[in-house]
Amino acid sequence: MEKQFVPEMFGTLVFDDRVMKARLPEKVYRSLRKTIDENERLDSKVAEEVAVSMRDWAIEKGATHFTHWFQPLTGVTAEKHDSFITPSPDGGVIMEFSGKELIKGEPDASSFPSGGLRATFEARGYTAWDPTSYAFIKDHTLCIPTAFCSYSGDALDKKTPLLRSMQALDRQAKRVLKLFGNDVKYVRTSVGPEQEYFLVDKEMFEKRPDLVYTGRTLFGAMPPKGQELDDHYFGMIKPRVSEFMKDLNEELWKLGILAKTEHNEVAPAQHELAPIYSTTNVATDNNQLTMEIMQKVARKHDMVCLLHEKPFAGVNGSGKHNNWSMATDTGVNLLSPGETPYENAQFLLFLCAVIQAVDDYQDLLRLSVATAGNDHRLGANEAPPAIISVFLGDELTEILEAIKNDTHYVGQEKVIMKLGVHSLPRFSRDTTDRNRTSPFAFTGNKFEFRSLGSANSIACCNIMLNAAVAESLKQFADKLEGVEDFETTLHDLIKETIQKHERILFNGNGYGDEWIEEATKVRGLSNLKTTADAMPHLLDAKNMEMLMSHKVFTETELHSRCEIMLENYCKTVNIEGHTMVDMVRKNYLPAIEGYLGQLAKTVATMKSVSDKVKCNYEISTLERLSEITDDILDKTVDLEKALQSLGGFEDIIKTSEVIRDDVLPKMESLRAVVDEAEMLSPEECWPFPSYGKLLFSVY
Ligand code: ADP
Ligand code: MG
Repeated sequence: MEKQFVPEMFGTLVFDDRVMKARLPEKVYRSLRKTIDENERLDSKVAEEVAVSMRDWAIEKGATHFTHWFQPLTGVTAEKHDSFITPSPDGGVIMEFSGKELIKGEPDASSFPSGGLRATFEARGYTAWDPTSYAFIKDHTLCIPTAFCSYSGDALDKKTPLLRSMQALDRQAKRVLKLFGNDVKYVRTSVGPEQEYFLVDKEMFEKRPDLVYTGRTLFGAMPPKGQELDDHYFGMIKPRVSEFMKDLNEELWKLGILAKTEHNEVAPAQHELAPIYSTTNVATDNNQLTMEIMQKVARKHDMVCLLHEKPFAGVNGSGKHNNWSMATDTGVNLLSPGETPYENAQFLLFLCAVIQAVDDYQDLLRLSVATAGNDHRLGANEAPPAIISVFLGDELTEILEAIKNDTHYVGQEKVIMKLGVHSLPRFSRDTTDRNRTSPFAFTGNKFEFRSLGSANSIACCNIMLNAAVAESLKQFADKLEGVEDFETTLHDLIKETIQKHERILFNGNGYGDEWIEEATKVRGLSNLKTTADAMPHLLDAKNMEMLMSHKVFTETELHSRCEIMLENYCKTVNIEGHTMVDMVRKNYLPAIEGYLGQLAKTVATMKSVSDKVKCNYEISTLERLSEITDDILDKTVDLEKALQSLGGFEDIIKTSEVIRDDVLPKMESLRAVVDEAEMLSPEECWPFPSYGKLLFSVY
């Protein structure tokens, strides 16, 4: 095949703006653009013409099927393929695709989690085209990004509330911008998600039921070498991994995904991929696709891509950094300090909106990243703590201090920071990007939310972030609209906001125990350590009111979501527990028993040859291993009982508490004894590949 250069390859599988412009009649194109840019309702005639053009394009690219591609609450994407064929009178077929088929689909919703929505409403749901995210071709199928709702209009997916949250923020941000004399068409949030993952050899992976069933190792003693030498981070990329990355980039580029940066991460076998940022809902779709393609491409290279947050104990787990900012259609980044004092005041107000949002809705941000997998990372000295705080860097903190106290800002010029009069310095990345332990850090012209787990959909945290910031902006606009002395009111508002929310600002080490002490005892910040602790706060009155007032969720949707997320937590751990029991009974115990038998035989044989041999090694190993075996059995029985006590998850909050307080500790303790047995047993007696093999065998 002829070599394709990147610019030629980029976006070839996407029905993007270039294709639309080239293929759609001018009037249709303009009308569609209006829908995309300004949220205008789509005319059915326009949809009809777009459908025809999309179909012809897709068929030229070899597509035979189309699907409405959506993101149910399972956290992964869903698709149901239909072929384009329609019988023609002459006994053959023609390829058809109508505007109606483009706009709306009707998949059976009954097998997707709906958290009670299903019981009270019709089982059928519908999918609705999201024209703001481009259609693309994957596996000979035209994929149309869609929202997924029940017949009563309740969102059954992650995209619908995300789009609603973007609209809420757009509405409120425009009100604020108007006060500064800026009449813009729209404000959009943009996101660049950095994605971490592990690659392991496929053959090894398949030998480990824990990896196959749960995506993480539930047992495994530490190898002699872990990540202590820091020799993997940014290190040379191994040839097999490099081949994988090359393939992956090409697949992503064809899908119009702006894959940009790739490097090794801290743990052995761990890597990262970062795209260039894009509009939040596009970034979300693209990140879901990226995770899917990563797994497919890895298989082609006889590897498996692990997206679990903690595939291996003892080395770092994987996260995802959600780089977030707000920008206008005119290209102004609202989190970038401007050129003039007036623009600076606007910047500071938007900055304050974020600070207030994070303080007021810490719990929502925390629960938006809460899953069974991510619970293993947060607060585990490798990832930000479960406590949410904001890092601003010294320079910006000093400026805010000066405004708060009406004192001198000791920057380049010594001036009293009066808004609208003095310019702010430009913050360089150097002064803002030093802290790696903060969950929510300002990095020069954007915030980086670092608490996400690698497998999380970025939709969840962006829904909460957009909604919370929309709420701050709404409060600000309410206060500022129509006032006589805008500058003084603005100055006072910023001052008050800093005073009220400075407890959330923290530039220190987020990994230290002192911080947990100070954050919780002195500052009164919340420390929701697990999913079971965090998730029920979704239904706190203040949170429900805010999310409902901005029309991001309905009351029913909130109840259903809380239920689904907790159910997911319980099911995940339940599967892990059963996998452990299975592995112990079917593999570990028989393996150890086999080795014990060998040892006993050896001792007997040796003693029959000479009564002078002591057999110290054999006997002490046998004694210890036999003790451990009994321990393993006891702990397995304990775990089995705990799992049985979960019943049918009737009361999901109670079940999640039992999981947290009873099941997970029992799993830990069972693992500890099995891992000890591994250290005492010869490699050939051990039933599964070791950590050493899993982490270091790919080259
Ligand atoms: P790090 O130093 O954290 O590894 P990088 O500089 O490599 O980060 O980039 C982090 C991500 O932030 C990239 O995906 C980049 O596109 C994204 N990013 C840059 N500017 C913005 C912005 N204004 N809004 C959202 N994301 C942004
Ligand atoms: Mg980062």
